[in-house]
Amino acid sequence: MKEVILCKYGEIVLKGANRSSFEASLTRELRARAALYGKFRITTAQSTVYIEPENEDCDLDGMTEAACRVFGIVGVSRAAVCEKSMESILTTVKEYLPEKLFGVRTFKADAKRSDKRFPLSSPQIAAEVGGAILETVPGIRVDIHNPEVTVRVEIRDSAAYVHAGQLRGAGGMPYKSAGRGMLLLSGGIDSPVAGYMMAKRGLEIEALHFESFPYTSEQAREKVFTLAEKVCAYTGKMYIHVISLTHIQEELRDRCEEDYFTLLLRIFMMTLAERCARGYHCGAIVTGESLAQVASQTLEAISVTDSVVDMPVFRPLIGMDKEEIVRIARMIDTFETSILPFEDCCTVFTPRHPRTRPEKEKVMRELAKVNFEGLCEEAFAGMTTVKRSIYPEQK
Ligand code: ATP
Ligand code: MG
Repeated sequence: MKEVILCKYGEIVLKGANRSSFEASLTRELRARAALYGKFRITTAQSTVYIEPENEDCDLDGMTEAACRVFGIVGVSRAAVCEKSMESILTTVKEYLPEKLFGVRTFKADAKRSDKRFPLSSPQIAAEVGGAILETVPGIRVDIHNPEVTVRVEIRDSAAYVHAGQLRGAGGMPYKSAGRGMLLLSGGIDSPVAGYMMAKRGLEIEALHFESFPYTSEQAREKVFTLAEKVCAYTGKMYIHVISLTHIQEELRDRCEEDYFTLLLRIFMMTLAERCARGYHCGAIVTGESLAQVASQTLEAISVTDSVVDMPVFRPLIGMDKEEIVRIARMIDTFETSILPFEDCCTVFTPRHPRTRPEKEKVMRELAKVNFEGLCEEAFAGMTTVKRSIYPEQK
């Protein structure tokens, strides 16, 4: 019996004339993942991507799991393929489903007939399939309102497909279908979640991390690379740029009023982020800021840091509270790494009373006490880049 993986589109189905370009992004991502699990044929038809193994060596379990992390797909099903006749469908149901439904107590049978030439109606197909399951799966019963598993038969143009339930896909829009953004990636809880959320909207993510060696450690840097790797489970790969803020922080500490320190540092960070973003053809900056979470995230502080950049700054967490952010961090498996206790450059020389309602003129007067341009040039010149990837040849 031939088994395939069916991936159902999410929001792409709403697209009009430009739908094919979204489909191309989606299949490109799936093809790249599939190469890790064997030789698969990938085609699209009727708002579904078909992933067919081309030989016995294909790892269907691995591919199914990977497909669940590809943005743009809302549902993933393993399905048996058969001829479009009721006889063949029932034979397949009886052969394929008992193993899949082992230990399942309740089910519902459902049919979808996109090929309207098929002689039976959807309810008639569902009734026959339900009967065949009751005959062959011991102890199972029907529960149409709250079934443990919904068995579905789909009569499509190409063939009939029988599947025992659908796994939830990652949703969103295909990766790299919405331009590229520079994510400010710290070792905290928030920024990896922010990167994941924008990647889910189709934004290709590059990361920029600021460190402050020797005030921050090698382990702190490794932790950030590990976080990037976790996000790569969804994005495939990611470049991470690292810029040292050590000299900038020392200058700010020595020359500027302490209360303004955090805000001045953020002005440097945003300025360097914009340069880095432009250098790598990113149209936006992404941060993990959430309104009022800390002193630098008040409306007034954000207005000041926003005003020094001339490109959109995406803050997908702006209206979320910590609990909601943590829930996503756990789901994408970054939480446990984020809470490892290594210092961040933002926690070096932290002022005792940071300004929460800064006046821009006063901030700019403080900034004028250091050689802003020279320090930016120097920091930028020392930038290094690494790559993280789930694809072995690209490590
Ligand atoms: P996070 O949990 O993401 O570290 P946070 O609540 O600690 O966020 P801040 O330290 O004020 O908040 O940082 C706000 C945002 O600024 C972060 O979400 C991140 O996008 C960026 N940022 C902070 N520190 C760094 C850093 N060392 N390198 C790169 N970006 C940073
Ligand atoms: Mg932080």
